This record gives sequence, structure tokens and C-alpha cells, in this order.
Amino acid sequence: MKTIVVASGNKGKLREIAQIFREYQIISMQEAGFSGDIEENGNTFEENALIKARAVSRALHCTALADDSGLCVEALGGAPGVHSARFCGRHGDDEANNALLLEKLSGLPAECRKAYFESCVALCTEDGREMTATGRTYGHILYAPEGQGGFGYDPLFYSDELGKSFGVAAAEEKNAVSHRAKALAALAVKLREVQE
Ligand code: IMP
Repeated sequence: MKTIVVASGNKGKLREIAQIFREYQIISMQEAGFSGDIEENGNTFEENALIKARAVSRALHCTALADDSGLCVEALGGAPGVHSARFCGRHGDDEANNALLLEKLSGLPAECRKAYFESCVALCTEDGREMTATGRTYGHILYAPEGQGGFGYDPLFYSDELGKSFGVAAAEEKNAVSHRAKALAALAVKLREVQE
């Protein structure tokens, strides 16, 4: 089984990538021995995904996969977008990020709370090939968290496709419709093409 090193320390993402990309052995960059800091200074999900996958692939001479993803809210002009992990000013503080999102949308009716998650996944092989793929999933932002499943903004995101929040959904349900699952499925097709 081919090993892919995931350029992320986000346990929620790693879990989902391993659940979806079952034909590969998925290990985190920390398990693979990468301890450096990666500056995500791109302006798009694709730029950031490539920055992360390249950094790990080059440092460890391995095939590396990165997901850069986030929540885009129509009423906020697409924010938090690439800043989703640090919307509140601190990286990875999900509770504060969710509280700030609710505050910014307070008073807005359901039809003005449209949002989507986007994921761009990038894969860099040890021989220098690069490929990317993108996926989106649509819904709206709830008035209060529902459920405790998933990670990040999941309890506030009502999925149009599932008819429930990602916080309430089982892992398999979220993985059937998520932005990350769609991006990984598209990447898997590209990967098979280059391997043939
Ligand atoms: P990244 O590590 O810079 O790609 O940041 C991704 C951030 O976007 C996470 O920390 C979450 O806040 C948010 N995010 C991305 N994907 C999801 C998801 O599937 N559910 C909930 N939040 C997500």
C-alpha cells in the first residue's frame, strides 16, 4: 500500500482524509518526521494547499498531500475563506471562531445565511509532479450549534445535501457529501491517470 504523508496537524482533517482515501496508508507529517513551520501566505485555497504539500514533499522526499479548506459565507463577501482557521485572531480556536461567526451574522434571516465549504487538495510526488483538485459543499449557517460531531464550523453548518448540520451527521454521512471528499475523489481520478 502506498504511503502518503499529509501536510497537516489538524486531527479532524487527517481522520477524514484517512477515512476517504482508504487505498493509501495516510500518515501525518509529524509521524513522518516533519517538524518545521509552514507559512501559509497564499491568497487562495489552491496556493496554500500547494505551499504545504510542496514543503513536506521536498523536506522528506516523499509523496505529500495537503488540504487547504475553509468556510465561505455569502453575506460576509466570502469570509472567513482562507482565514477560516484563524477568523477570531488565534489559529485553530474553533469555539471562538464559531462565536465570532454567529455574532457577525446575528439578526440575519435564514435566506441571508448561505455558505459553502471549499477544499483544495494538492498532491506533490517525490519525483516533483504536482496536481490539485477542488470540491465544494453548500448549505447555510445555523443560529446556534447543532451536534458535536466533526470539527471546526461543522456544528453551525446546515448541509443542503444532508438536510442536517455536519455536527449532527455521522462521519460516513459527512464524508459522502463533503467538500474534502469531493476534492479527494477528483484528485484520485487524476492520480490514477498519471499512474496508468
Ligand atoms: P486550514 O488548515 O488553513 O486549511 O484551515 C481550515 C479551517 O477551515 C479549519 O480550521 C476549520 O476552521 C475550517 N474547516 C475546513 N474544513 C472544515 C470542515 O470540514 N468542517 C468544519 N470546518 C472546516
